Amino acid sequence: MMRKPKVVILGTGGTIAGRAGSNTEMTGYQAGEIGIQTLINAVPEMLEVADVTGEQFCNIGSFDMIDDIWLRLSRRVSELLQQPEVDGIVITHGTDTLEETAYFLNLTVKSEKPVVLVGAMRPATAMSADGPVNLLNAVALAGSQEAVGKGVLIAMNDQINGARDATKTNTTHVETFKSWELGYLGYFQNGKPIFYKASLRRHTAAAEF
Ligand code: ASP
Repeated sequence: MMRKPKVVILGTGGTIAGRAGSNTEMTGYQAGEIGIQTLINAVPEMLEVADVTGEQFCNIGSFDMIDDIWLRLSRRVSELLQQPEVDGIVITHGTDTLEETAYFLNLTVKSEKPVVLVGAMRPATAMSADGPVNLLNAVALAGSQEAVGKGVLIAMNDQINGARDATKTNTTHVETFKSWELGYLGYFQNGKPIFYKASLRRHTAAAEF
């Protein structure tokens, strides 16, 4: 039997780890409240696609992201990916600065292995929260051969965006990350990543930094 890919999930906070007073509250909530292990436990389906471990890196609203965390995160991701048994990394992150962190890692992580950022637009306590399916997709992507060498990726709303091109376009809609005229790289169907294209720009292992 083929071994399942090993994926490490680094939790940094954000709405995906957010808690509100009721399940209809989609905006007035506290970001970065729920621990990474609780988020993993809420999506047991991910254990069918990967051997998953979680690590609480920090637990903040991403509007509080600072250079020091970026540097430590980049080093931790590179360190984990140097371990032969680790196949990919997922980073749960607030959406406010998710594109900046993704781009920074795209320039500084020295590895061809998949690094996937994931967030949510609705807090974990919300009705129809988007976090669980986004997390499941992100784990499948980070453990996939198709994502190797594609640079840092963003998995949200059943779409795959590349870190170089993606930007947040809406404050509340679940369809928020877009790569404008360059378009997304692929999408998810039944939890499986399907790529249509890849960025030809230098990134990760080939970046000059
Ligand atoms: N509103 C943000 C989010 O969507 C909060 C944050 O960036 O942490 O996650």
